Amino acid sequence: MTPRDLPALTISELQPLLRRREVSPREVLEALHARIDEVDPRLGAYLSVNRDTSFAAADAADGTLPLGGIPIAIKDNINVAGESCTCASRILENYRAPYDATVITKLRRAGAVPFGKTNLDEFAMGSSTENSSAGPTRNPWDLTRVAGGSSGGSAAAVAADLAVGALGSDTGGSVRQPAALSGIVGLKPTYGLVSRFGVTAFASSLDQVGPLTKDVRDAALLLNAIAGADPQDSTSLPGPVPDFTEHLGRDIRGLRIGIVKEHALQGIDAQVKAALEQATNHFHSLGAELVEVSLPHTEYAVAVYYVLATAEASANLARFDGVRYGQRAANPQNLLDHYERTRAEGFGREVKRRIILGTYVLSSGYYDAYYLRAQQVRELIRRDFTRAFEQVDVLLSPTTPAPAWKIGDHEADPLQVYLADIFTVPANLTGICGISVPCGFAEENGTRLPIGLQLLANTRDEQRLLQVAHAYEQTTDWHRLRPPSLAAS
Ligand code: GLN
Repeated sequence: MTPRDLPALTISELQPLLRRREVSPREVLEALHARIDEVDPRLGAYLSVNRDTSFAAADAADGTLPLGGIPIAIKDNINVAGESCTCASRILENYRAPYDATVITKLRRAGAVPFGKTNLDEFAMGSSTENSSAGPTRNPWDLTRVAGGSSGGSAAAVAADLAVGALGSDTGGSVRQPAALSGIVGLKPTYGLVSRFGVTAFASSLDQVGPLTKDVRDAALLLNAIAGADPQDSTSLPGPVPDFTEHLGRDIRGLRIGIVKEHALQGIDAQVKAALEQATNHFHSLGAELVEVSLPHTEYAVAVYYVLATAEASANLARFDGVRYGQRAANPQNLLDHYERTRAEGFGREVKRRIILGTYVLSSGYYDAYYLRAQQVRELIRRDFTRAFEQVDVLLSPTTPAPAWKIGDHEADPLQVYLADIFTVPANLTGICGISVPCGFAEENGTRLPIGLQLLANTRDEQRLLQVAHAYEQTTDWHRLRPPSLAAS
């Protein structure tokens, strides 16, 4: 094995090498830095990589710990002490995090080395990283296309071997969707399983941190490190956390997999549909029982999500006013002028659109018609899922209705982008867990574009979710295929 091979290894492949000291944490990090230097100028996955602090952490890493010496890339809306945390927004351009988010503390405690902050849609609002103040992340499979979003930088970094694993955040699909479009694994844990302390809030009733990895076992390993109750986050779930690798390798004979009747009515790309059918047959051949279930309110999920997420965002983003942190407008005439110009200059178009929409649905006269109504429909969606999980163990669907689009294609039509969240937002609205796993490719003019399947399981049923995802992955080859060479040109 040469240093050039190291970045392509999974966490579970690196672990024994580090433990036996066949490679050092510094060597792994050096290999990643070399590849980042070579490839990232064309990809745009990273917003910042602090070499000094990460090398110091690598040298100090304890190889006997579960993730000892494993470098992990971090979405740039998660605070890492001393590093910048821009949320890909001009308003936080010069902001440095004064403390570690709990997920970072936990990663360090497991021996991992948080290094490098990855690109995202501004404040995690979007599905393509095109809403980043730093410009889009490109898809490693086709550099003219988006890598998905909002955790597009984390997804592209893992897919292109610029990271061994990464953390992202998922408010409406932002871990699962970029994982699907980039051909890797993305897991959204149950709401409250992972602390959000130190993660910049977008929509607090929906936000959850999750891993993006090269395979399912690595997702379980990262979840082991970051899950658990946190007194700093009152929404975090109490109780012990199991070993999420425990059920990996168990067969899935007799498990019931739900196919959602209403999904047949959604406009799904023909190649995505074909990949899903193939995956469905595959689950059948593994001995799973396929059961048709109904989620009658699923068609309202996108509308409900965009009312609630924008309402919560408008409140959460009120703090960015240039007083305590972030950019400030120059020479304000008075306080109001200061607020108005700071926010007008600091936020991008999509963030402004959402603050305006969210303020509108919360305003008197419209609150009942939009916000309250959306809360009520959210409850109906939750009941649909409760009923479904009385009949099945997991639900199967595509992660996205179509593969990655060309950069710039949807610029003029944000609604098209919102509608593509149809399969991912229900997990956030209901708090259940979900995972995206590679399940094939679409072919467009000779380029292969990854397709992801999504599995959903009930709250706190991650072990089963990972078991089913792992059973599929280990009997297919999709996750082993790498993007065409991204060697220096
Ligand atoms: N695409 C969704 C949105 O734009 C989800 C974003 C997310 O999960 N952070 O809101």
